[in-house]
Amino acid sequence: MIKHLSLKAYGKINLGLDVLRRREDGYHEVRMIMQTVGIFDRIDLAREEQPGIRIETNLFYLPTNENNLVYKAANLLMEEFSISEGVSIQLRKFIPVSAGMAGGSSDAAAVLFGINKMFRLGLTIRQLMERGVKIGADVPYCILRGTALSEGIGEILTPLPAAPQCQVLIAKPAINVSTRFVYTNLHADQLKPEQHPDIDSILEGIRHRDIRQVAANLGNVLETVTIKEHPVIQEIKDKMLGYGAAGSLMSGSGPTVFGLFTDPAAAEQAFEQFRSGSDSALAKQVYLTNFYNTKNTPSLEI
Ligand code: ATP
Repeated sequence: MIKHLSLKAYGKINLGLDVLRRREDGYHEVRMIMQTVGIFDRIDLAREEQPGIRIETNLFYLPTNENNLVYKAANLLMEEFSISEGVSIQLRKFIPVSAGMAGGSSDAAAVLFGINKMFRLGLTIRQLMERGVKIGADVPYCILRGTALSEGIGEILTPLPAAPQCQVLIAKPAINVSTRFVYTNLHADQLKPEQHPDIDSILEGIRHRDIRQVAANLGNVLETVTIKEHPVIQEIKDKMLGYGAAGSLMSGSGPTVFGLFTDPAAAEQAFEQFRSGSDSALAKQVYLTNFYNTKNTPSLEI
């Protein structure tokens, strides 16, 4: 019997994010290129005799009740399979919160994976993905991971060849952005064609293993809304490009900005500037990482 499981829940960035239209039901139809990065939350699951789901986390401001996405994920499978035992979940967050990196969705994905394994429910990855979309549009992708094209509301996923490796500098300014605000203020049908990113060129760059083509075509239609509200995002992008990034973009609805570097020394130097140098006032959380490809580490377990 499995009593404990340690899991890693990885964050993502968007190499491309386009919104095609708003559907009748209020959801937006998107076309996004997703890429997992090497920043992860740690989740420890423990099986307990006492029924119920108990959550502990290192961030005091996160809910530890049914509003936490890890609770929703555990509860979904435990109810469906009438599991009478309990589970405790220890969640250590490192992925910036409310940042456009799908941290909560990834935590939920890891818990679905973990509960399935711990209680031997026998669900396939596809069956877990079908359940994940009920928790959030990005959850199926967070189960799949790697490089992928995401369409529909995010639930139609096409795995892509792993994007060519590079250094990824991630900087989150000390501001909060509401995903709902950004989508409500985006009027995709009023955008000029040049404001939509060229997703096909990014796809081509990935298929040709050409990181420069990928970096040159990075694009996120949501920048039109978020940067207008928070010019610091543009400031960080410009700095990253000034330090030699081949491309720089806001991830998701923001405010996290990432830069792709092909020169490790330039990436390291930029990282130091944002972390403790002249640009440290611009970003609250800074990471230097890589793309994470599932071929190297296929499992969510340590
Ligand atoms: P996305 O990239 O999917 O838009 P995000 O980075 O904007 O995600 P998250 O960090 O996933 O946002 O979630 C932020 C909101 O969700 C916060 O209001 C937070 O209180 C709530 N939340 C619930 N569960 C979690 C969790 N496990 N981790 C982070 N936030 C959570």
